[in-house]
Amino acid sequence: MKYSIFSLARNALSGHKNWQPAWRSPDPKPEYDVIIVGGGGHGLATAYYLAKLHGITNVAVLEKGYLGSGNIGRNTTIIRSNYLLPGNNPFYEKSLQLWEGLEQDFNFNAMVSQRGVINLFHSDGQRDAYVRRGNAMRIHGVDAEIIDQHSLRDMLPFLNFDNGRFPIMGGLMQRRGGTVRHDAVAWGFARGADMRGVDVIQHCEVTGIKREKGRVVGVETSKGFIGCKKLGLAAAGNSTTVAKMAGLELPIESHVLQAFVSEGIKPWLDNVVTFGVGHFYISQSDKGGLVFGGDIDGYNSYAQRGNLPTVEHVVECGLAMIPSLSRARVLRSWGGIMDMSMDGSPIIDKTDIDNLYLNAGWCYGGFKATPASGWCFAHTIANDAPHELNSAMRLDRFRTGYVMDETAHGAQANLH
Ligand SMILES: Cc1cc2nc3c(=O)[nH]c(=O)nc-3n(C[C@H](O)[C@H](O)[C@H](O)COP(=O)(O)OP(=O)(O)OC[C@H]3O[C@@H](n4cnc5c(N)ncnc54)[C@H](O)[C@@H]3O)c2cc1C
Repeated sequence: MKYSIFSLARNALSGHKNWQPAWRSPDPKPEYDVIIVGGGGHGLATAYYLAKLHGITNVAVLEKGYLGSGNIGRNTTIIRSNYLLPGNNPFYEKSLQLWEGLEQDFNFNAMVSQRGVINLFHSDGQRDAYVRRGNAMRIHGVDAEIIDQHSLRDMLPFLNFDNGRFPIMGGLMQRRGGTVRHDAVAWGFARGADMRGVDVIQHCEVTGIKREKGRVVGVETSKGFIGCKKLGLAAAGNSTTVAKMAGLELPIESHVLQAFVSEGIKPWLDNVVTFGVGHFYISQSDKGGLVFGGDIDGYNSYAQRGNLPTVEHVVECGLAMIPSLSRARVLRSWGGIMDMSMDGSPIIDKTDIDNLYLNAGWCYGGFKATPASGWCFAHTIANDAPHELNSAMRLDRFRTGYVMDETAHGAQANLH
């Protein structure tokens, strides 16, 4: 069923009783051409582009929970392409371009809102680093501008400009950045993939990967054995445990990241704003809630929940940036599992194991990458070779030394 003004009117006339489910709930077939493990944003986008762009429709996406139960439904919804390094920037810009046409493409309202992302700077040195980043973006044809303190005061008068310790001197802005309703992205890709024949199978946990003569022949699941010709892993926070089923050790640690939403208030914050001296970022949802987050919890875990010391730390950073935040009440918070790679950049690649492909290492920045990640992973699986856009996102870079250390923090997962 195509969603349009006409389908809305038609269904309104019948009392909205004839809407069809957005996707089917099929039983698994004995074998598929491609199986994707993980029905998060990346797995679903991969299946969508495999079917839409490469004509590979005999595909199953296996999800152990329900769609949206992973990070795709837990993130703070920010999209942007303000990356520095040549291995990252064109990829994230491709993603932003895909976001710009995504709702028309998959015929689903994902509330893409290009409200602008502003990274605050607090010292001359940090300003220089942001100018460098902005210039690198512009060299790649990506929009970037430095906003001086005077203009920022007009835009965001409630910021703590004169904080004695962390004065706000200006910001790097990407106006095309913004937010997207995160779970609608999973639903839109699932619906688009399902319409093209992909089986999206929920509550189907992969418990083992079966190999014969080195090749992957299928997966053991909570719904029985399912054979496949190619296997793609897109399990985000569970990447290490799933890859281990094929005997693969990944250069990835899993950490918890929390998100917070306040009570709804009147429209107040037009942009996405990030603090420059601590990990804190904030935006306002269309329902009025302030959506914010900060640092990872700082220890390895596979639990989808966080701890109080990090709550305190995030709130401290928030209050240093916007003192009036102290009057808002936090309504809810939750945690997600981050697949932290050792250089802070992702992996989209074939593995050393025949017909096994890997999509992982998204740290806390994989939501914005969802469309390009699916697009590139589908290309890599269909052609048995990476696309130019993901050619630097190789698994063997940790062996060869060609890492992409975007933030220059080295192999410190908690600092990326
Ligand atoms: C609090 C928080 C805030 C964030 N904020 C942002 C942000 O503002 N911007 C941004 O760009 N990124 C952000 N991120 C990161 C982003 O959400 C993730 O990098 C991205 O969603 C990961 O890809 P995914 O959507 O495919 O992951 P997921 O949705 O986690 O998908 C992986 C799926 O694999 C499934 N799975 C795991 N093991 C198995 C198995 N054995 N069998 C079957 N299925 C399995 C899981 O259940 C899960 O549904 C944030 C993350 C969190 C937690």
